[in-house]
Amino acid sequence: MSYRSISYWFDSLGAEPELRPPLPGDREVDVAIVGGGFTGLWTAYYLMLADPSCRVAVIERETAGFGASGRNGGWCVAMIHGLEEFFARDPQRGAAMREAIKASVDEVGAVCKAEGIEADFHKGGGLVVASNAPQAARLRAGLEIDREIGWTEEDIYWLDPEELKARIRVSSNFGGTFNANTAAVNPAKLARGVADAAERRGASIYEQTTALAVEPGRVRTSHGTVRAPRIVMALDAHVTRLPGCRRNSLPTYEHMIATEPLSDQVWDEIGPQSEGSLAMAAACSSMRNARRITGLRLAGAMSTTVTVRPSKLASRGSRTSSDCASTPCARCFRSSESSPSPTVGGVCSVCREISFHRSRSTRRLASGA
Ligand SMILES: Cc1cc2nc3c(=O)[nH]c(=O)nc-3n(C[C@H](O)[C@H](O)[C@H](O)COP(=O)(O)OP(=O)(O)OC[C@H]3O[C@@H](n4cnc5c(N)ncnc54)[C@H](O)[C@@H]3O)c2cc1C
Repeated sequence: MSYRSISYWFDSLGAEPELRPPLPGDREVDVAIVGGGFTGLWTAYYLMLADPSCRVAVIERETAGFGASGRNGGWCVAMIHGLEEFFARDPQRGAAMREAIKASVDEVGAVCKAEGIEADFHKGGGLVVASNAPQAARLRAGLEIDREIGWTEEDIYWLDPEELKARIRVSSNFGGTFNANTAAVNPAKLARGVADAAERRGASIYEQTTALAVEPGRVRTSHGTVRAPRIVMALDAHVTRLPGCRRNSLPTYEHMIATEPLSDQVWDEIGPQSEGSLAMAAACSSMRNARRITGLRLAGAMSTTVTVRPSKLASRGSRTSSDCASTPCARCFRSSESSPSPTVGGVCSVCREISFHRSRSTRRLASGA
């Protein structure tokens, strides 16, 4: 299989990645990590940093970064969905989480520097652009919530259409937000670099090794059994393929796109934010990365936002994006042919996002803020 062909980012590595050998047979370790994406690789890296004597084994079916980690939009951003819910439950821990998330962007840059990972990390900030009035209202409502949970003017702020125009020229400009804690990165180079760094520090990474079942104290794989008192599940959506895990996660989809190389003239027309990151505030947003990291291309992801309440999911049975693809939305009646949004619980992601943001604003109003 050609790994170069799986994503623009893998192709940008310039050559087929060198594969690590599979698990050589049964092994006993302190921590077994199932999945070699960012979750698994960063875990392995920090475990080795914390305790170089720790025996860590990463089990990866393909090669490091093969999953979403090596094919995403390349945004490294201090943002996590649902932080305000966390705050509502425990403001002190919420504040600690906010600061940790903020620090993590610089941390990625610092690790790249310290470990010699050339992942084109560039902290140029991120713009989210509203291209109509409801999107602008939604962004402003989100910004108010951001203030309530302690994000400052230095972290994220509003740009009026005129201010926005000075940074980016888009055809429909209703203003937008600028998040200073945002970096662009080549995710495949980062994932592969973190894998190398974890390995240099003593972690074992077994590629071309499929975990067949995860049981208490052991991972059964295609190449033997790894026994460990601690097992980290780092499979993201792939976890649903393991026995007994079908309902652990709800796989949805996003698309990655990249343009042909663009001329200097086009870049000049786009404006200075071509050095940073850009997203459109539409429910399906196109994220674009820095000119400097993408070799004069725009590259990024089309994303869908899906909110799932586990109890409802359990009562309906888990649905995959392929189950959803052919189902028209029960609210707006768009079919999958006219909308790229999967339906979940009968409702497409555009409608779901609208109701999510409405309920966010309603909760805020109800709390008297
Ligand atoms: C198109 C797209 C754009 C995105 N854009 C962004 C963005 O700009 N910024 C951002 O922060 N996030 C973005 N995300 C989300 C982000 O990429 C993911 O949240 C993140 O990469 C998940 O990492 P992970 O390590 O948990 O999972 P993965 O990267 O999916 O890693 C799981 C690994 O497990 C392996 N595996 C699967 N099954 C088995 C098995 N049975 N045995 C062993 N190994 C197995 C896979 O090969 C894979 O390498 C995007 C996602 C997509 C799809």
